[in-house]
Amino acid sequence: MDLTGKTALITGSGRGIGKAIAQRLSDAGAKIVINDVSDASAATAAEIKAAGKQSLFVKGNVSSSEDVNRMVETIIASFGRLDILVNNAGITRDQLTLRMTDEDWNAVIDVNLKGVFLCTRAALKYMMKQRWGRIINISSISGIIGNPGQVNYCAAKAGIIGITRTVAKEMASRQITVNAICPGFIQTDMTQKLSDKVKEEYSQHIPVGYFGTPQDVAEAVAFFASEEARYITGQFLCVDGGMISVW
Ligand code: NAP
Repeated sequence: MDLTGKTALITGSGRGIGKAIAQRLSDAGAKIVINDVSDASAATAAEIKAAGKQSLFVKGNVSSSEDVNRMVETIIASFGRLDILVNNAGITRDQLTLRMTDEDWNAVIDVNLKGVFLCTRAALKYMMKQRWGRIINISSISGIIGNPGQVNYCAAKAGIIGITRTVAKEMASRQITVNAICPGFIQTDMTQKLSDKVKEEYSQHIPVGYFGTPQDVAEAVAFFASEEARYITGQFLCVDGGMISVW
């Protein structure tokens, strides 16, 4: 899969799954835009540059349309185009539905769902002119099977599937594909904070017998981003060690 000449924006890519995606797309030849809310994530762009590849860090909150529009304009000013958008930024604020506060509901919907809409809308403006684009949305198997204590997160992740299918239909005639990936249990800071009891419970539902890595997700993203995947749009792919089939 050769992404030479393409520019890829990966949201929330300072660490975790986003960072692995950034490194994988960089290995395939793409110019990489790292986005995050914290300045510390500039280090990820610096790592890619140190490896002799092109990379830019653009700080911004995906739930702010001002930040998102500024981010995309900066990318166009720097690289002249935007070919691949990976909507990866995500947060959790877990609580049972009865105890879920408005703040925790809004925070997760704003970043995980509205953020996907805002970044997609901003990127499409340029992808449509280019008549080529790849949008890859990081959803979750929780959006399909549900997960107690994550009503906000599951609603957002299920909503991402709706965005994926809708935008795929709207853009199909313009060589812009839109697909989603639904990771299962992937070892990152997000899952690290779960209790040992919860991790043990999850591990019993993974047919392959082990937790996934950010690299496992990155490989699927690289495929959807490629020219080879041109005939696939509006789909979601579970990268979950078989979890969804036995849950
Ligand atoms: P993570 O380690 O917590 O990393 C999340 C990244 O998103 C961080 O770099 C974070 O920045 C960034 N971010 C948070 N809010 C943001 C905002 N408003 N604007 C821009 N960036 C923001 O999470 P992860 O495990 O890598 O998860 C990545 C994606 O995969 C998420 O969408 C998550 O829901 C999804 N996913 C993960 C799993 C899993 O098992 N890990 C499973 C299914 C789906 P800071 O460093 O500044 O906080």
